[in-house]
Amino acid sequence: MVTPLLPLTARHTVAIIGAGISALACAQVLASSGASITLFDKARGPGGRMSSKRRFDTKLDLGAQTFSVRSTEFQSAVDAWLDNGCVATWPTRTYQASSTGWQTLNDGQTRYTGAPSMSALTRYLADSLTTLPHVELYAQTLIASLKRVHNGWQLIDSRGTCYGPYDHVVISAPAPQAYSLVAEWDQTLASACQTREQRACWAGWAIFDRPLPRLTDVDPDWQMARVTHPALRLVSRNQTKPGRDTPQESLSLLAQLDWSEAHLEDAADLIAEQLVAALRSIFPTTVTLPTPIDVGAHRWRYAQPASPGEQIYLYNANGLALCGDSYLTGRVEDAWLSGHRLGEALINRPL
Ligand SMILES: Cc1cc2nc3c(=O)[nH]c(=O)nc-3n(C[C@H](O)[C@H](O)[C@H](O)COP(=O)(O)OP(=O)(O)OC[C@H]3O[C@@H](n4cnc5c(N)ncnc54)[C@H](O)[C@@H]3O)c2cc1C
Repeated sequence: MVTPLLPLTARHTVAIIGAGISALACAQVLASSGASITLFDKARGPGGRMSSKRRFDTKLDLGAQTFSVRSTEFQSAVDAWLDNGCVATWPTRTYQASSTGWQTLNDGQTRYTGAPSMSALTRYLADSLTTLPHVELYAQTLIASLKRVHNGWQLIDSRGTCYGPYDHVVISAPAPQAYSLVAEWDQTLASACQTREQRACWAGWAIFDRPLPRLTDVDPDWQMARVTHPALRLVSRNQTKPGRDTPQESLSLLAQLDWSEAHLEDAADLIAEQLVAALRSIFPTTVTLPTPIDVGAHRWRYAQPASPGEQIYLYNANGLALCGDSYLTGRVEDAWLSGHRLGEALINRPL
């Protein structure tokens, strides 16, 4: 499957579809070769499932809330981000919560988050790349198809604009989205995408104009709660994340995956209402939850792989490559490793 390529040099051009953590990790390695790199993302900015949403004066993380580290390779990257200040350790005050009570939760694992919001990390990576003269990023550009031409690959966006040609195209979108781009051109990559099913997840939010009620035997500054409830699996208090200067109570409410899939096509306001009702159910009946001043929900159609995969990345001699968390497990570290190692392979650096 993995065909050795000629080392990438400053003469080469690479297009990267997506600007999430895997794409940015790949671009960072490729940039060291001097090759010209162009990133395309359909969203307004970089980040993908690590992006944050602004509501009023606050920022909500609606995708990954935290990440952990298992490999020394990723730890060195995280250490550099800690030094830079775009990442911090969080949370340290976690609970397991249900309608029958709250217990402290400590599994001994150090977790990290972007500071002051998850998007600070991907923003930092994107900014450091785009200050380089040979790297550019096109936001709000949905790549709709690829075209093989004699000297490489062209990319065509949803408005019909054509980019390229490029020697290599790296696709970092979740596998079902990558499939639609490679299906016409590469049966091996297309089959790999088809085997990687992604699960969906609703992520809700609730913003309050006053603090949540205090609970007996629960630290008033609790930061995150894993929840036992059919609809709700996690509550995260955004204002407790490091580097925040607004104390406004703003919660991210991540839904259970089974529940998300059963309600995938429901309206977002209905989902938000049900997640707030689930939140209410984990507070004792003796306390009153204030009425939120703003609620909403975001549908992640491809939130995480349904099962662990075994390939870190895939590439073919025709210049097409796939990276992202789809091919391992749905973790920030896996996404980063996927992009980073693909970058190393493309510049032919020994691993
Ligand atoms: C609700 C939720 C909770 C999570 N919790 C955790 C957690 O606690 N810990 C953890 O480690 N991980 C968690 N994750 C997983 C983590 O966020 C992902 O593993 C990681 O962010 C994936 O990065 P990626 O670069 O592979 O993909 P993405 O971040 O999805 O990046 C892909 C990018 O491609 C873009 N794109 C797609 N198609 C196109 C196209 N045709 N044209 C242009 N652009 C395109 C998208 O806009 C996106 O920006 C969570 C994810 C979700 C959704």
